[in-house]
Amino acid sequence: MDGCPEHIAIPDLFALYNKQYRFGAFPSHKSNYKSLTDREKGHGSPEDCIGCRQCEGQCPQHIGIVDWLKKVGAEFTKS
Ligand code: SF4
Repeated sequence: MDGCPEHIAIPDLFALYNKQYRFGAFPSHKSNYKSLTDREKGHGSPEDCIGCRQCEGQCPQHIGIVDWLKKVGAEFTKS
């Protein structure tokens, strides 16, 4: 996302989380998560979030992104 100093793909991660919530846990979701959080591709992951809240200032829906990112990270890193 533009403006995120940790280059976290916030909209894509939330879209993936919503997909999992609606349709269930498919193996492809976990591999998509790995790709969206791959440092070698320039992405940060939810656990890299430093809580600067720049994203929340830009969000027109006033979503609590920092808190939701923790849930997203937990969902896709649980075994
Ligand atoms: S609060 Fe986290 S996700 Fe939001 S811009 Fe800062 S580092 Fe990125």
